[in-house]
Amino acid sequence: MTDISCPTCRTDEHLTGEPNEGLIRLTCSACGLTWDRDPSPRCRRCDSTDVVAVPQAAWDKARGSQLSVSYITVVHLCPHCDTDLLRRQRQTNSPLPPDVNPAASEG
Ligand SMILES: [Zn+2]
Ligand SMILES: [Zn+2]
Repeated sequence: MTDISCPTCRTDEHLTGEPNEGLIRLTCSACGLTWDRDPSPRCRRCDSTDVVAVPQAAWDKARGSQLSVSYITVVHLCPHCDTDLLRRQRQTNSPLPPDVNPAASEG
């Protein structure tokens, strides 16, 4: 598999991978990102396998009410269904904002 690259720094030369419960755990030694790669990701909406891995910030489960974006996860966007999101991510070249602010649903 040579089509894997780091979602944040785009390198494909500093990656190590090891099997992890059906996924592949990848570590980028260039930027320190660790993520699980689904060997066969699919679009949630159209079931296409033609998806692109992009980084997404994730909220830490904070103590108290303070939230911080403390780690990066990887999501798969579909060029057909997530066109705007994908374009925005490409333009900014920074992680997508988290989907849900967990504080918003609490009291
Ligand atoms: Zn990297
Ligand atoms: Zn789709």
